[in-house]
Amino acid sequence: MDAARLPSVDAVLRTEAGRRAAERHGHKPAAEAIRAALADARQAWQAGQPAADAGRIAAIAEAALERAALPSPRPVFNLTGTVLHTNLGRALLAEAAIAAAVAAMRDPSALEFDLETGRRGERDDHFRARLAALCGAEDAAIVNNNAAALLLALSTLARGKEAVVSRGELIEIGGSFRLPEIMRQAGTRLIEVGTTNRTHARDYEVAIGPKTGLLMKVHPSNFAVQGFTKAVPHREVAQIARAAGLPFLDDLGSGTLLDLTRFGLKRERSVQDAIADGADLVTFSGDKLLGGPQAGLIVGRRDLIARLNKNHLKRALRIDKIRLAAFAATLDLYADPDRLAERLPTLRHFTRKRAEIAAIAGRLAPVFAAALGAEWQVDVADCVSQIGSGALPLDTLESAGLALRPAGSRPSGRQVEALAARLRQLPRPILGRIAEGALILDFRTLDDPEALAAAIRQSGTAP
Ligand SMILES: *Cc1c(COP(=O)(O)O)cnc(C)c1O
Repeated sequence: MDAARLPSVDAVLRTEAGRRAAERHGHKPAAEAIRAALADARQAWQAGQPAADAGRIAAIAEAALERAALPSPRPVFNLTGTVLHTNLGRALLAEAAIAAAVAAMRDPSALEFDLETGRRGERDDHFRARLAALCGAEDAAIVNNNAAALLLALSTLARGKEAVVSRGELIEIGGSFRLPEIMRQAGTRLIEVGTTNRTHARDYEVAIGPKTGLLMKVHPSNFAVQGFTKAVPHREVAQIARAAGLPFLDDLGSGTLLDLTRFGLKRERSVQDAIADGADLVTFSGDKLLGGPQAGLIVGRRDLIARLNKNHLKRALRIDKIRLAAFAATLDLYADPDRLAERLPTLRHFTRKRAEIAAIAGRLAPVFAAALGAEWQVDVADCVSQIGSGALPLDTLESAGLALRPAGSRPSGRQVEALAARLRQLPRPILGRIAEGALILDFRTLDDPEALAAAIRQSGTAP
């Protein structure tokens, strides 16, 4: 085997691209990438292709190093039309929350330290009085996410006991959250009552026995049952629980702290509604409609929250200082509801007007048309966004964006899929959705049109 025609690693390192790669990524990673590129070049040469020179090997190695250096997970343009996209990390944080998280990372903070007394404090004390007051509840606690909140509540109140839930509410949520599995983990026996479409008050009443630990209702987050249906109102389940001396747990899921109708959205039961309807504990996520970091919130009766806090599981499920700081800062913004829609990105995206979104689409259409070339037809298009993450599952928001279609006389779905794949490979991937033979880019959640324009221009020049 004669590989003498290929340059040495050192010779490649001495080229301009080789020096740049070593400078940026370190000598060792650069040498390894060059060796890998040389191995490929040797195979190609043995297969009869001309031997690559040092400059070509250096360029290949540098490109491989640049690809490997892209952050993971990578920031993307979420143009899917789903505002709270679970696979894209749900809520985007407000600037105040980001600043609070950064401060918590950089400096020591009085996380579990009472500055008044100089003694040990509780991490929940940074928000519990404010959250409880906002919700009209006696007390509040925070854990890793809503799944953890449910695990903690069930394990505290119904370990070795039974939890009564309607069959119509035994939900599975994307990201492998299944209520029956959580129950099993908590050591709680699930007692299903009613049927998928109809549950009556007496179904709950006859299910209550000496082993019952609690009654529970779960928000049907990502579906709706229509037709011949009946569910027992929260207020009524709360009364049945109270009469039996049992706690009533309301898993709200998304959990808004506001009346969303003031922002022109459909009405969604708020945490305040849940407390007012008689829930003893309410659980919800921090990173859905609330617009904060991933977290699980529990609000309700003081004596029950005290029991949750004593459960050693809480230590295992606790939230870290970074997210706690971000959550407390997010909660602060709720003190001024008038400015919330400007400050909270999630709410800003929900409330954006179609005309404003369409104007952005109109400005970007020529940029996309130029970058994609004559093979693609680019149109400003109406579309509908959805809220996502189990909030208002049937409610859609009028939106606008671009529809990208193959321009030829016989457009194929494969071309659209190939374009979607190409846009996913950009340094900052552009994610849309495919519908009716087009790649639809919904601009409701686009915060930086200039950055998107730069990204699509770059895609035209990419190999
Ligand atoms: C989203 C959701 C959960 C899970 O919450 P996470 O914060 O993702 O753990 C649980 N219950 C309901 C009703 C939900 O909508």
